Amino acid sequence: MKNIRSLFPIFKEYPNLVYLDSASTTQKPHSVIDAELAFYQKQNANVHRGIYPLAAKATQAYEATREKVKQFLNTPSVKEVIFTSGTTDSVNLVASTFALDRVGEGDEVVISAMEHHANLIPWQQVCLQKGGKLVVVPFDTEGVLSLADFEKAITDRTKLVAVTHVSNTLGTVNPIADMIKIAHSKNVPVFVDAAQSVASHVLDVQALDVDFLAFSGHKLFGPTGVGVLYGKEKWLNSMRPHRFGGEMIRDVTFKRTLFAPIPQKFEAGTPNIAGVVGLGAAIDFVESVGQTVIKKHVDELLKYATNALKNIEGLDIIGQAKEKSGIISFILRGAHPHDVATILGQQEVCIRAGHHCTQPIMDFYELPATVRVSLSVYNDFDDIDKLIKGLKKVQAIFA
Ligand code: PMP
Repeated sequence: MKNIRSLFPIFKEYPNLVYLDSASTTQKPHSVIDAELAFYQKQNANVHRGIYPLAAKATQAYEATREKVKQFLNTPSVKEVIFTSGTTDSVNLVASTFALDRVGEGDEVVISAMEHHANLIPWQQVCLQKGGKLVVVPFDTEGVLSLADFEKAITDRTKLVAVTHVSNTLGTVNPIADMIKIAHSKNVPVFVDAAQSVASHVLDVQALDVDFLAFSGHKLFGPTGVGVLYGKEKWLNSMRPHRFGGEMIRDVTFKRTLFAPIPQKFEAGTPNIAGVVGLGAAIDFVESVGQTVIKKHVDELLKYATNALKNIEGLDIIGQAKEKSGIISFILRGAHPHDVATILGQQEVCIRAGHHCTQPIMDFYELPATVRVSLSVYNDFDDIDKLIKGLKKVQAIFA
């Protein structure tokens, strides 16, 4: 991954920065920042409304990203690509329409015990509102779900499965292709949270046959405040809109409103146009490097970091699945994770400490918090060495 670092201006500003928090948000390459800037400088107008050439340019730039997402996820049609503000927004969209209308008294929504709060609370709220039941598939101490447990959890009352591809806390990569097959064999649609997998796993929604899939731009080297919901056309057409206003209508009178077809039906109001343009540049960046190349690099770093961390006396890694993405949670006995993060921060080593929006995982391991290191394309072995050096310093302070 030589020279990749030089594509990210943040490392020019902070040459010694060891950024190990990409699961929270990735850094942005020049091309993404430049694309947003260029949009405001050269193409800025509202989309889908103006007839004048500048408005047509803005609309073209916005819709070009939809086409890129179509290729990126291999969706059958551009109509199935909805721009949202991020994964959280995408989950809420499906929860407040599809799930709310399907789940009745006694019906069930199946999730895993390792979901981010964003892929837990919206379904929990639907169940609370409709008298449904949230069914949770457990994981073992290694952080692995069992497909047998998953299969058992799906009953004739299950209306939807919502599962994360990669756990943002444990790093576990879930076998979503198998899970989708199992759910479909029981006629249950599946929502996949791809927030943590999108940067390093090739996602082909047709090969997966997934019903809904969501990701955030900012975890894909793109801007914050923009994300994607993919949904099968048959589902999106059957769903009522969740937000109302401009852009999403066909005809309005005081008596009734006819809604626009998908995807506009789900994009009320002026969207994050520059963000969507930036997302397009982020997809170009990822494709120029290649997700398989990114994955190979992150896998190598993961192996190196895991071995180095295992050699530290008094350090316990939380989440030891065989199939792991570039995320390592751990605790350092005798030092609170927040103290670890503070001391490392003083050495320009950016890691995260906390529950990582997965409090049920903390409850399972009976921990208040973990330290989390997450790896990306701009990290190298040197970053890991600095992390290890920093952790030894922490140990010396707390000895
Ligand atoms: N799901 C997972 C697995 C995540 O890691 C995150 C972000 N940490 C989210 C959902 C929510 O993403 P966002 O905050 O971008 O909406």
